[in-house]
Amino acid sequence: MSAYRGRFAPSPTGPLHFGSLFAALVSYLEAKNHQGKWLVRIEDIDPLREMSGASELIISTLDAHQLYWDEEISYQSNNASQYEALLERLQQEGAVFRCPCSRKQLAENGGQHSQACRDQAANLENYALKFRKTNYLYEWLDGFQGAQYFRLNDDFVLKRKEGFYAYQLAVVNDDYQQGITHVVRGHDLLDSTPMQLALYKALNIEAPVFSHFPVLCLKGQKLSKQNYAKAVDDAQAVNNLRSALRLLKLEKAAKETSIAHMLKTAIELWDPKTLHGATQFVSPL
Ligand code: GLU
Repeated sequence: MSAYRGRFAPSPTGPLHFGSLFAALVSYLEAKNHQGKWLVRIEDIDPLREMSGASELIISTLDAHQLYWDEEISYQSNNASQYEALLERLQQEGAVFRCPCSRKQLAENGGQHSQACRDQAANLENYALKFRKTNYLYEWLDGFQGAQYFRLNDDFVLKRKEGFYAYQLAVVNDDYQQGITHVVRGHDLLDSTPMQLALYKALNIEAPVFSHFPVLCLKGQKLSKQNYAKAVDDAQAVNNLRSALRLLKLEKAAKETSIAHMLKTAIELWDPKTLHGATQFVSPL
């Protein structure tokens, strides 16, 4: 039995577009090529950005492309008590401070917290919980991008003033709780990795292997909901997968006629070297 546990972790801000289908496929192929498990986790912790019904649409698109997940789908909205417990642990480590600053105040102060902010916040009611910046050099050997070195630019939010948990906190909690060994995601999240490594280090737990694949772009812009990327058409599942497999240079798999055969061949022939060092691919759709 392989110990590999990977995941696809979409935020339900809209239906999957071709870029996010590509993300699902790459993480799936990596996991399955390692005879690993592939989990799906819906990252629904930011109600202000979410679209009602998006989780169901995402799941039915995965289903239509026969990207079948192992284990039950998890939802971050169920995990608030775990996030509180993790915050508590980080607080005990002295890694957290209360920050009352608004974005405007931070901008006026060159993005930095004034000492007054750090000192006075203990007495305030309306504050965010932030992770205190360290000067540590965070390093990792990225599975697709090679050796990476980053320092934290700034403190970062763990729980927002409005009471919502931040992505960095939730993702570290869930990857840890779900025993994820390999995080495979888009290059747009590369600069989140040092923040997550900082949390793993503060918690004294081993971080997973991180691999960041190229994001899909059209006219120089990342495909995203903000750029009006259109929803994947589930009725075109074979063609969608074919296009994604061609981007991954899996021509033999792309020529198969059924989805099951396409995926089986792609799993066998998967070679992440085609992604090495690439940060962007031009989207064919
Ligand atoms: N939920 C994040 C997104 O949709 C992905 C998080 C991750 O893979 O770490 O952009």
